[in-house]
Amino acid sequence: MRLMVKTGFFFLLLLLGSCSQSPQEQLVHQQIFTFGTLVDISIWTKDSEKAQQAIAEVSQDMQFLHDAWHPTKGGPLTRVNQLLKTGKPFSVNPSVLPLLQPASELSEKSDGLFNPAIGLLVQLWQFDQLDIQHNSGKVMTPPAEEKIKAFLLQAPKMNDIQINDIRVSSSNPAVELDFGAFAKGVAVNRAIEKLQDLGIKNALFNAGGDLKVLGKRGERHWRIGIRSPFYHSEQGRPVIAAIELHDQESAFTSGDYERFFEYQGKHYHHIIDPRNGYPAEDFHSVTIVHQDAGLADAAATAIFIAGKKDWQRIAKQMGIDMLMIIDKEKNMIMTEKMAQRIQVEDSDIKQTIIKSPVTTL
Ligand code: ADP
Ligand code: MG
Repeated sequence: MRLMVKTGFFFLLLLLGSCSQSPQEQLVHQQIFTFGTLVDISIWTKDSEKAQQAIAEVSQDMQFLHDAWHPTKGGPLTRVNQLLKTGKPFSVNPSVLPLLQPASELSEKSDGLFNPAIGLLVQLWQFDQLDIQHNSGKVMTPPAEEKIKAFLLQAPKMNDIQINDIRVSSSNPAVELDFGAFAKGVAVNRAIEKLQDLGIKNALFNAGGDLKVLGKRGERHWRIGIRSPFYHSEQGRPVIAAIELHDQESAFTSGDYERFFEYQGKHYHHIIDPRNGYPAEDFHSVTIVHQDAGLADAAATAIFIAGKKDWQRIAKQMGIDMLMIIDKEKNMIMTEKMAQRIQVEDSDIKQTIIKSPVTTL
């Protein structure tokens, strides 16, 4: 008996000893600059060395994709844009294909509101010049109305592009591809896949507020904050709502407060309505939650542009059932499914829960 007690005691000590040596789960967190934004990568793990290694690898992948998918910086997409103008078929660099075909389908489902073929119009608005112009003190102005009208007459669309395996051509010389509303989503999908390939089980990949999660944060689900479109003088843009995300879910937001300028008292932002060539007016922001980050990215843009009248139809066509809209009248409109995940932090906002207009096709 005495021996048993002693042995038991020894065993307990051993157990305690091994407990104190085994590493605890912790958050390994790092920031990288890619896709034109600061990306936060958080990994919940016992193996911080493996996590650091995975972050280094995923950063390299992201940089590769950014270079391949940038419209004007001389990479594969720049070449595609040059050759599309010729009207002749050419062999496309395969790195562009994961954007080309899915973007055509999504554009179709959005009734052309998500339209990555309007690169020339996006360039007319010069939002990429925002920082440079601000820094040089130059005033940003909207493009001349005649230029917008001339562009609209040419009406470039994704279905002007013919895709046959890697042979591609365009029947409209005004097509210029800009995947600014989609590429980040596709890249975020790839980033999470890459982390999984490297044996990571729990992670949050946050590309400037557009993000996707893997697994959980310990016992809890990952929770993310959505920034308020309303500017507070002391707090800047506080969190308007927190959303709980489950394994493999992404949350993408399109907002009128992300890239904009003021001219003669009017606010001009970077989400352009292809129907009239001007920034879309009804909403401040649209947040989409979906497992496919590429779809979430494109749908946030399309539903933002669709506005009050058309958003439910476009959401349904694109298969979106978890979304939150903040409109100009300080309403937070959300689907029932989103309402179950959200904790609203702004007591001034009026909440409207849409019963079930949105059913997946
Ligand atoms: P963010 O880039 O801030 O996440 P979005 O996903 O809404 O916001 O993408 C906006 C970008 O998409 C613009 O900067 C521009 O490059 C491009 N864009 C603007 N309007 C459209 C549109 N109607 N369809 C497709 N892309 C667009
Ligand atoms: Mg988008």
